[in-house]
Amino acid sequence: MKRVLITGAAGFLGSHLADRFIAEGFHVIGMDNLLTGNLKNIEHLFSLARFEFYHHDVSKFVHVPGQLHYILHFASPASPIDYLKMPIQTLKVGALGTHNLLGLAKAKNARILVASTSEVYGDPQVHPQTEDYWGNVNPVGPRGVYDEAKRFLEAITMAYHNYHKLETRIVRIFNTYGPRMRVDDGRALPAFFSQALRGEGLTVFGDGSQTRSFCYVDDLVEGIFRLLMSDYHLPVNLGNPDEITIKEFAEEVIRLVGNPKAHIVYKPLPIDDPKVRQPDISRAREILGWEPQVPRSEGLKCTLAYFKEEVLGLGSQKN
Ligand code: UDP
Repeated sequence: MKRVLITGAAGFLGSHLADRFIAEGFHVIGMDNLLTGNLKNIEHLFSLARFEFYHHDVSKFVHVPGQLHYILHFASPASPIDYLKMPIQTLKVGALGTHNLLGLAKAKNARILVASTSEVYGDPQVHPQTEDYWGNVNPVGPRGVYDEAKRFLEAITMAYHNYHKLETRIVRIFNTYGPRMRVDDGRALPAFFSQALRGEGLTVFGDGSQTRSFCYVDDLVEGIFRLLMSDYHLPVNLGNPDEITIKEFAEEVIRLVGNPKAHIVYKPLPIDDPKVRQPDISRAREILGWEPQVPRSEGLKCTLAYFKEEVLGLGSQKN
């Protein structure tokens, strides 16, 4: 049986990946320091003999007994609010944590996939963003702690690939959403859903003309699985190219939630907030035969059921 280590396994993406690898018949070892992760996301896996969990901070030496075939490094605070609150931990998990896991991959002769981000493109001057674009990042701005940690993650991963001939994969993840996002993680989608459900103002930052492109989590997990199993070691963008302004997105959430009290309120735009973001997924299409399947209308409905339960404590009302 193939054994996979998933770091950040109690987080949003990590827990969905754990589910996928369990469904594919793997033995899954989840690791998380629970800084932003929540055991609730993986408690359904604890009864399985094919699942183990280590409460551990990967910025410290990582020990896993026995064989490992694959490592997926998904541990990191990932929302702007989280990494502003935890700048040092964010830098450490991207830098020291990645170094530890590359060392573990080398010791175990395992293939490693590391989670990078569209943030490596910063406030982009090329649109949509192709993998060949080097980005426009402010290293000393508030987002620098995340952006530069992830840029270092890519650089050290390439160094292990080139110098130690390690099998490495790098995914650049664009905005992704779905069940198990933390309600209070400060990102646009959880904020808008919880505000709309409570009948409060949806806090649109700036004039809301900045754009993002939202990918449903199941599509992303499929792309990550295909990338891990591919033989391609250069970075690959994964995301949904369907781009929308944040103001239009807030309006879409208000319509979907249908609470007449919900309305938009404008707040100042955070420093260095990227003005546009849309993945060019030509590389993923060509190399992985992948593209998103779930339209936003459908993905948002599934996500609404989750937020209803989290925010209002109501059971999911599937029809
Ligand atoms: N945003 C917003 N209201 C919020 C949270 C976020 O208008 O309550 C905006 C934010 O300024 C950014 C976009 O929505 O332009 C997406 O922000 P998010 O924090 O979700 O992730 P990012 O893509 O910036 O990493």
